[in-house]
Amino acid sequence: MDDRQFRNAMGRFATGVTVIATEMDGDTHAMTANAFMSVSLDPKLVVISIGEKARILNKIKENRTFTVNILSADQQEMSMIFAGQIKEHREVEFGYLDGKPVIPGAIAQVACEVAAEHVEGDHTLFIGKVTDIHLEEKEPLVFFNGRYRALSEQ
Ligand code: FAD
Repeated sequence: MDDRQFRNAMGRFATGVTVIATEMDGDTHAMTANAFMSVSLDPKLVVISIGEKARILNKIKENRTFTVNILSADQQEMSMIFAGQIKEHREVEFGYLDGKPVIPGAIAQVACEVAAEHVEGDHTLFIGKVTDIHLEEKEPLVFFNGRYRALSEQ
């Protein structure tokens, strides 16, 4: 099986889009990610998966905190900025939740402390213990088959 077939198969799983953010020495670093899921209700745990080449990896390892920001339908540009799909630098204003940087206008902001990390192949899974949540009532951004989409009613 080649890499393209594996990527194509995984891309058939429609997801929301998140931006993971962390702060070190006063600098915020953020990255677009869709490898995110809820793990446990008691205690409240989530998991994210970060590639070994991502610059944010060592920052989360050192800082031990991160936020998951689930993007709204009107935040495709945020996703593109933090996936490196827009090359020129854009100034992004972050807000704060539980002392951690968050994306204003995200439909969910989830603040986490790293509870565990597991290296699996070329990615590191971070289990996050949820310390605070902020929600907004808007439609989500959707990612499917390598393209941004919007939800439609059945
Ligand atoms: P960098 O290259 O360091 O940063 C990415 C971009 O964000 C750069 O352009 C940088 O300038 C900008 N940036 C960072 N912080 C700031 C700031 N404070 N202000 C302004 N700009 C800033 N990769 C994974 O590992 N796991 C996933 O689950 C995952 N899911 C993805 C889902 C989607 C829909 C997409 C499009 C990509 C996904 N990726 C995922 C790939 C990942 O987003 C990119 O590979 C990313 O560029 C690598 O992160 P980095 O920390 O090395 O990025």
